[in-house]
Order: sequence, then structure tokens, then C-alpha cells
Amino acid sequence: MGRAIVIVNAGSSSIKFSLFLERGDDLVPDVRGQMEGIYTFPRFTAKNPDGSLKTENSWPQGTQLGHDGSLEHIVAFLRTELVDDQLIGVGHRVVHGGQKYTQPVQVDSNILTELEKFIPLAPLHQPHNLTPIRRLLERVPDLPQVACFDTSFHRTTPPVAQMFALPKELTDDGIVRYGFHGLSYEYIASVLPQFDAKAAAGKTIVLHLGNGASMCAIDAGRSISSTMGFTAVEGLPMGTRCGSMDPGVILFLMDQRGMSIRDIEKLIYTQSGLLGVSGISSDMRALLASDDTKAKIAIDLYIYRIRRELGALAAVLGGLDAIVFTAGIGENSAIIRRRVCQDAAWIGVELDENKNTAGGPLISKKNSRVAAWVIPTNEELMIARHTLNLINKTKGA
Ligand code: AMP
Repeated sequence: MGRAIVIVNAGSSSIKFSLFLERGDDLVPDVRGQMEGIYTFPRFTAKNPDGSLKTENSWPQGTQLGHDGSLEHIVAFLRTELVDDQLIGVGHRVVHGGQKYTQPVQVDSNILTELEKFIPLAPLHQPHNLTPIRRLLERVPDLPQVACFDTSFHRTTPPVAQMFALPKELTDDGIVRYGFHGLSYEYIASVLPQFDAKAAAGKTIVLHLGNGASMCAIDAGRSISSTMGFTAVEGLPMGTRCGSMDPGVILFLMDQRGMSIRDIEKLIYTQSGLLGVSGISSDMRALLASDDTKAKIAIDLYIYRIRRELGALAAVLGGLDAIVFTAGIGENSAIIRRRVCQDAAWIGVELDENKNTAGGPLISKKNSRVAAWVIPTNEELMIARHTLNLINKTKGA
């Protein structure tokens, strides 16, 4: 009998899971899936490693399975999957580890209480990330559960990169720039040596361009700056998030337009970004396919902001060896990559059009001073590795 690890990524309306099997020194992906629309129109799908559909279930519209009902369904499904392998632990993606959690941690009820204190720092993600941990702690208290944080990778950024220019007592109270998408950046940093030894030992900017989007400056494998800050709304414009904006705008909207904190939260997290500017869609595919000038303006703004952040992060690094594109847009859109690379010609990126159209991994010309890569991210594998390592360490201790 082999050993197995389940990875859980719980959001407000969906719970995603992946099953990994330990085979020798490797963690091999097995089934992965999700329960989506958990409070509206639940649908369960599970896929084989080759992407083919394994199982599908749906419930009538209006069914409120919620996090508990959904988790129960996922557990029941996994029981039928795990006949030859023993589940040794569950790894969870948790958005916020505050200043304390610089590494993944095995969660008990005391640590869970500490993690709940970070809910105000990530109100849209943290409570949902923690719900399955709480339920499993209640039901199977002996099953090791490991929390892996999106903030941990950025704890190496120097203090000056973490600070806002606010009074010291606020900084001391944890109102600082944390940075997110850390599991994605950590994965890219872990595989970069296989692609580009020079960049892995040197200076790289990784562009995580998905529905959420950020960029990270990595020096010799360590994060030294990133575009996201205290919350996951700072930095680049995203699918529905506005990215960096003069905080005076918020004061103006509250003062002159009578908007409440909840109105502002909705505006900057769910009604802005590509969706807000275009008025069409948050999905880059839809915007690229549209003839509407508003779609073009949204894409132009997106590209412009990437250009600005690229310059800023290159300045922080004091040079650049490579840029790496990852996540949904970064991995799949040759058009967006081309525009970003064209804007980065000044710093030494020379795009190879054919390689870019073919999807990489190398998309720059052979003699390009700064290399450009496309590397698919794998946050689940990163969480699975952390979970296994921590369980092995705890058992060996
Ligand atoms: P992620 O959050 O990493 O899953 O990325 C999701 C986003 O990737 C979607 O919202 C799409 O906008 C984008 N995306 C996926 N495929 C493509 C594509 N072929 N071209 C442009 N954007 C894409």
C-alpha cells in the first residue's frame, strides 16, 4: 500500500482538490477536481491526470450544499479512490500566514485560532480556506493537516520593501506589504534551475498572470519584492480587481458618493480590473476576441501597468537575467506575452515570434540579453511537497 496526500483549495464558491500518490521519491498527480457553485448550483467534476473527465455530478439550482456538504461529497468520492493507498495528510492552500508563518505549518486547534486572526487581512479568502481545516480537525483529529501560505515566500523581502510610509505603530501592528501568489512563485523558483541556471542564480521577474495577477522580483531564488501588498488587491489590474490606485479615490468615493466600506470592497475586488474597464468580461480570452474599443482600452491598460511594474522590479533587482510568464494568461496567451516582451525590449528582451507562438518554454531569441520563458505553475504540487516534507519531519522527530 502506498501513501497519498490530498490538497484542498477552498474558496467562497468552490472547493478544489487534488490527490497525489507517493511513488518512490516522487509525488505523482492522480485525480483532481472541484465542487463549484456550492451555494447556488452545485456541480462536482473529477478529472484524470490526462484531463479526461472521470466523474461528474450536479444538483438542482438553488441547492445550498455549502462548504460542509461539499466537503462531505469530496471525502466520500476520495474514499472510493483510495483503495490501494493510505491517506497520510491533507495540505491546504491558505492565503494569509501573517508575519509569523514564514513556512508551512501543521495545524492544531491553537494554530487554527491564530490563523483565524488573519481573517480581517483577507476577508474574501481566509475564512473559506480555514473552513475545511476546522471541519476535518473536528471529524478526523488524528489526520495531519498542513497549511501552506501564499504569503510565506515573500517573508524574505527586505523591511523597506514591506513597509508603507505610515506611522510606526501601524507598521508594528502588521499593516505592511505581505505579497501573495507565493506558492506559485516558490514553485517557479524551484524548477527554474532546470530551465535557466543563470537566471536561477541571478535576477528574474516572474509574471503570474491569471484571474488574480501579480509580479515578483526573485534574486537567487528569494523574493525581494512583489506587486501585491497588504491585500491581494494591490499591484496590477486583474480580472475584477483594480490593482494599485490612489487611496484618495476611496476617500473621495466615501465622502462625495456616500459609498460604504462594503460598497468599496465590492467595487475594488469584483467590479473593477478588466471587467470594470471593458464593461464586457473579466476573461482575457473574451477581450482579445472582442472588436469593442473598450476591450482594447482594458488590454492596453493591463499591458501598460505590467510595463511600469516590470521597470520598477528590474530597478529593485538592479539588473535582469530572465522574465517568466505563468498562470492562465501568462501560459496561454501568445498575444499578451508578445506585447509585454515588446515593451521590455529596452531592458534586453528579444522575443522569438515563432517560439512564442509555439508556447515555449523558451520564447526569446538565442542571444537575447534577457531570456523570456513560459513555465506552467503548479501550486498544488508545491503544497503536496510541503505537506509530505512536514509530515515526514514530524514523524521522524
Ligand atoms: P488562472 O486564474 O491562472 O486559472 O487564469 C484564468 C484566466 O486565464 C482566465 O480568466 C482567462 O482570462 C485566462 N486565459 C486562459 N486561457 C487563455 C488564453 N488562451 N488566452 C488568454 N487568456 C487566457
